[in-house]
Amino acid sequence: MQMMDLTGRVALVTGGNSGIGLGMARGLARAGAKLAIAGRNSAKNEAAARELQGLGAEVLSLKADITQEKDCQMIVHSTLARFARLDILVNNAGTNIRKQPQDYGLDDWKTVLDTNLTSAFLCSKAAYPAMLAAGGGKVINTGSMMSIFGASFAMPYSASKGGIVQMSKSLATAWAKDNIQVNAVLPGWIDTDLTRAARKEVDGLHERVLARTPAGRWGDPADFEGIAIFLASSASDFVTGAVIPVDGGFSSQA
Ligand code: NAD
Repeated sequence: MQMMDLTGRVALVTGGNSGIGLGMARGLARAGAKLAIAGRNSAKNEAAARELQGLGAEVLSLKADITQEKDCQMIVHSTLARFARLDILVNNAGTNIRKQPQDYGLDDWKTVLDTNLTSAFLCSKAAYPAMLAAGGGKVINTGSMMSIFGASFAMPYSASKGGIVQMSKSLATAWAKDNIQVNAVLPGWIDTDLTRAARKEVDGLHERVLARTPAGRWGDPADFEGIAIFLASSASDFVTGAVIPVDGGFSSQA
């Protein structure tokens, strides 16, 4: 469908080498976008780039630590140097450290907040001039069910993901005049490296997720292809500041 066609558009996906970010990148590639993916692990970056090229996309893979402002600037500048435009920014890179609240050190707190929240601010700030110059753009931020609910075992993560929602709404209201739409996607429980670690560390998590999710299954990175295309394309030009669960009904269940 033409309004979902991303031919000629350029997307930068942080954490685009695995899990949900790679799922979104696959969707954007299938819709015709050129892609830059940024992650810490070069081997994973290269493997993801090869896969996305197999879908017909031009792909730039970038080794970056998005907790560093200079790396956030570098990935935007490298994308512009290669493709001469940047239309879509997906702030997806994320991490978690699971402990009881009283056991976190300041370093733990900073690692999680810098990775999940501050990076989204820094990458959005770095991308803004290019989107402004192009006459518009799309920012997709990745929240979580913990943007809504608390979690006894993930206090800094919940704080960072709550922050993603309020940051998205603030950017959306500030940049609507520039034709830049900013939205947040809240994944439910999705089968990725991140949650495979959680399933090992949190007793009974797998069963609790299945019991609580009306769809009766864990999500898959493929569940993020469609929402990424929608939020990156002109199909969503009047959608901004929205917070969209992609959770098999998890957040609707009492
Ligand atoms: P994942 O571990 O597969 O992917 C995380 C990605 O973030 C990786 O590509 C990794 O390289 C990147 N990353 C982490 N720290 C980075 C850093 N400092 N610099 C550059 N890249 C960095 O996990 P995932 O589940 O796909 O997570 C992706 C996003 O989805 C995260 O923001 C996560 O919080 C969020 N999320 C996941 C779930 C779930 O159930 N899997 C649920 C809610 C939200």
